[in-house]
Amino acid sequence: MNHLINLTQLSSDFPLIQPLQRGETVLWLNEKRDPSYVRTEIMMKDVLEAEARLRRFSSYFIVAFPETTVLNGLIESDIREIAEMKALIEGRRAIEIPGRLLLKCDHALPVAGSIKARGGIYEVLKHAESLAMEHGYLTEKDDYALLFSDKMREFFSHYKVAVGSTGNLGLSIGIISAKLGFEVTVHMSADAKEWKKEHLRSLGVEVKEYKADYSMAVEQGRKEAEADPMCHFVDDENSKDLFLGYAVAALRVKEQLIALNVKVDGDHPLFVYIPCGVGGAPGGVAYGLQQVFGEHVHIFFGEPVQSPCMMLGMMTGLHDKISVTDIGLTNETEADGLAVARPSKFVGSIMETIVSGCYTVDDSFLCRSLKAMFELENIFMEPSAHAGVFGPIQLVSEGAEYVKKHQLTEKMDNAAHLVWSTGGNMVPEAVRQAYLQTEK
Ligand SMILES: *Cc1c(COP(=O)(O)O)cnc(C)c1O
Repeated sequence: MNHLINLTQLSSDFPLIQPLQRGETVLWLNEKRDPSYVRTEIMMKDVLEAEARLRRFSSYFIVAFPETTVLNGLIESDIREIAEMKALIEGRRAIEIPGRLLLKCDHALPVAGSIKARGGIYEVLKHAESLAMEHGYLTEKDDYALLFSDKMREFFSHYKVAVGSTGNLGLSIGIISAKLGFEVTVHMSADAKEWKKEHLRSLGVEVKEYKADYSMAVEQGRKEAEADPMCHFVDDENSKDLFLGYAVAALRVKEQLIALNVKVDGDHPLFVYIPCGVGGAPGGVAYGLQQVFGEHVHIFFGEPVQSPCMMLGMMTGLHDKISVTDIGLTNETEADGLAVARPSKFVGSIMETIVSGCYTVDDSFLCRSLKAMFELENIFMEPSAHAGVFGPIQLVSEGAEYVKKHQLTEKMDNAAHLVWSTGGNMVPEAVRQAYLQTEK
């Protein structure tokens, strides 16, 4: 228990805490959202620089990960309309989701099969690039395919990369670091699935397992890495590079929506629903989207009923000073990627003027959504990724006040709802079958 927190006072200041404590699904609206506020911690030029760096690496990806050849060496996913899923939700819930329902397919990102293929891979690339440049092996003008060589792997093998993770970040960091030649250690929380650890070990990655949750795995990893000057620690709670890698997605979404004939402007609102763990991935994406679409994008983060860390941190303004366990929640969920008790303060503070709100979702919904998405759309997404699917339901059922406040009532038929899927493609067949067959 955290003795700095006076729960009685907190519950009276923030009435939503009580339903949260009961494990109910709730929608919190962020009164501080202010699309005109100019943030200075991160700038759009940083995002553009990240995008340019990823382009420089494209020739490396084509040789190191040939599956990216069709994407010209970029790691990107499609946006798909999920009309069958929309019809099912509307029928089951007796609601209408006005406008179009779209899915951003980051479960299918090449190389790492989750949204971590954006930020995680970007941070390791940036580190590798700066090492290679410092030692005179690389300039911006070179063909980066030269990094895919025994000589460069030998060079990188003298350096280490480490990360703490609930699973997918560890996977993405492990995969790219091992390919480049780094020595990698992944500190895995107790929630991490066995197959993710096995996959990493098969790549020669050192996996350290903890009986404790995500925060502990990160803290241990950070401590060990700090003691070693040759080691770069990918800090999921504080990293600007991770954040920027995720933010690049928004530039590409802009082009993709144009290609799909989806307008985003004063008459055509765009709603985006993203699963949130510690906040880095959804935060980076949200920052980028807000830069690209301004006030016309409305972004909501989804979290499990037992792990609403970002909602709690933002609502109370306490950020990483409060844990979901402080209000009596367990932080236990089938959505392993979202089993985070304490949010990133770095991300939460930036999100203060950006997100429209956060909502919670229960595990039984995640499980039903997983099966329906597979049966109706032939899309497999891991449980965490389904937290996004609950977003449009929450908006339609509980978000009338938000819609009205922003004068969107008349415009809802022109809306696009973009559910951001976050992981699934690397889940082994046997594990998929187990998910598809559970009774819940
Ligand atoms: C990491 C992850 C998230 C959430 O990202 P955070 O950066 O932890 O907020 C959501 N879904 C999946 C599948 C993930 O791997």
